[in-house]
Amino acid sequence: MGKFLTDIEIAQATEMNRIADVATALGISDFIPYGMYKAKVDVNRLSDRKPDGRLILVTAINPTPAGEGKTTTAIGLADGLNRLGKKAVLALREPSLGPVFGIKGGAAGGGYAQVVPMEDINLHFTGDFHAITSANNLLAAMLDNHIYQGNELKIDINRITWKRTMDMNDRQLRRITDGLGGKTGGIPRDDGFEITAASEVMAILCLARDAEDLKERLGRIIVGYTEDDKPVTAAGLKAHGAMAALLKDALMPNLVQTLEHNPALIHGGPFANIAHGCNSIIATRTALQLGEYAVTEAGFGADLGAEKFIDIACRELNRMPDAVVIVATVRALKMHGGASKENAGQKDIAALEKGMPNLARHMENITQVFGLPAVVAINHFPADAPEELNMVRSFCEDAGVPVVLSDVWGKGGDGALELASEVVRLSASPRRPYAPLYDAGARIKDKIAAIVTRVYGGQGVEYSEDAEASIARLEHLGLDKFPICIAKTQYSLSDDPKKLARPEGFTVKVRTVKLSAGAGFIVVLSGSIMTMPGLPKVPAAENMDIAPDGTLSGIF
Ligand code: ADP
Ligand code: MG
Repeated sequence: MGKFLTDIEIAQATEMNRIADVATALGISDFIPYGMYKAKVDVNRLSDRKPDGRLILVTAINPTPAGEGKTTTAIGLADGLNRLGKKAVLALREPSLGPVFGIKGGAAGGGYAQVVPMEDINLHFTGDFHAITSANNLLAAMLDNHIYQGNELKIDINRITWKRTMDMNDRQLRRITDGLGGKTGGIPRDDGFEITAASEVMAILCLARDAEDLKERLGRIIVGYTEDDKPVTAAGLKAHGAMAALLKDALMPNLVQTLEHNPALIHGGPFANIAHGCNSIIATRTALQLGEYAVTEAGFGADLGAEKFIDIACRELNRMPDAVVIVATVRALKMHGGASKENAGQKDIAALEKGMPNLARHMENITQVFGLPAVVAINHFPADAPEELNMVRSFCEDAGVPVVLSDVWGKGGDGALELASEVVRLSASPRRPYAPLYDAGARIKDKIAAIVTRVYGGQGVEYSEDAEASIARLEHLGLDKFPICIAKTQYSLSDDPKKLARPEGFTVKVRTVKLSAGAGFIVVLSGSIMTMPGLPKVPAAENMDIAPDGTLSGIF
């Protein structure tokens, strides 16, 4: 067998359809072309269409650092559904440049299940991340200018919470001192940057229902506190109108196509550890309006991704997914069973058996805790041994959960026909009423306990002094009636990345609790989650290049 083509080689060898043809096939005429292969969908013109499609969520077991193939599976599944004659529309996140140039790489799928043009999608795309960055930094500039011009609101410069942002992994900017240079250089203070994908403006764009809701949410952003302890908001600084203006085009979902010319809406890209990790509500709703099936993905494992999808994103959509695909890989299950990263490609039945309880927990969470129909998709890697695949299969069968082998990376939509049929079957049952894990009006600690004990399988929660004080404060201010957005490691069901498979009896340690008033959730941080990551020793960027004819290489 010859060598595998790289993702970018496969993508470049595919002849794309004009985006106008993709839009026409989708039944829409209201779109704004961004060149020949990308467009923005004017969602205001679609308001009379009901979001009646079936909502299919693709989630996964706890992943390895490389990712287990949710995006790839979602893309292949949409192609598979279309091959079965069903109209399926993808709704996915936009990649952040941090991972693109760091370790993980892009987020446009892989192998024969990709969205294209992958170079554009992974790099600047239609400029949404730049617009979000600008809106965020406009607020930062107006905030510091307000202080410089006399500080009428009496903002306490030691209690500013708003950070500047940039879509890059750059640890150098994590904590900085700015405003240097004497009297005309601003007010010197401690400051810092967050990566755009971790910013509240990103989360707001992804949760906003429409332009009005976007502006209101932006206005509610809390940037810091006054000397007498009152929250200072973006509306208080009169910044929200201009911020919303900057986001005018970014609020419209982007239309592209899969390698098999099926429609994909790619819109918004919040990280799944620190933020809620799902593409925009607007894009998902548009996919439900335009397709019989809307296929979407929630970041990282089902403990973080599916829980936040249901408790945060679905709260806005006011509906449950109609079927859930749980992606599992043999290599990740072996790593849960103790295999090292280097040996995960070698047959190891014992490690696989030991790692399987990780999958079991996620199956139970989806089918029992959330009560949703689920299918396990074993994402087939070239190194998987038949015996290992059989073992995962019979494990799921014994647990009574449907299981299929999916080979979309190797075969595109053709490799997902069985998965697509199963998704059609599972999602045909009557729509379920929206049933989140907890009531948003409950006490903050009760909401956190529900997630930790019922989804993670932990015993309880420990709070730092700082977290205790923040919770008391939010309750005192009446700002506690929001859903919870847990920020924790993606590698474990617990908050300790080393506790693999199915840890029991652990407690989750909550370090900080902070309100994202505009996004409308309370971020609960456990462990050391970075909102500005750094680059690894060998960044993916080192292997990227552009040829004299403009052909790019090294993006994956
Ligand atoms: P996730 O969305 O779960 O983070 P992705 O779908 O982005 O994962 O896949 C992560 C990486 O693994 C991508 O580079 C993709 O090309 C690769 N990949 C996914 N599935 C397979 C497979 N079956 N065989 C080989 N590589 C794969
Ligand atoms: Mg993904």
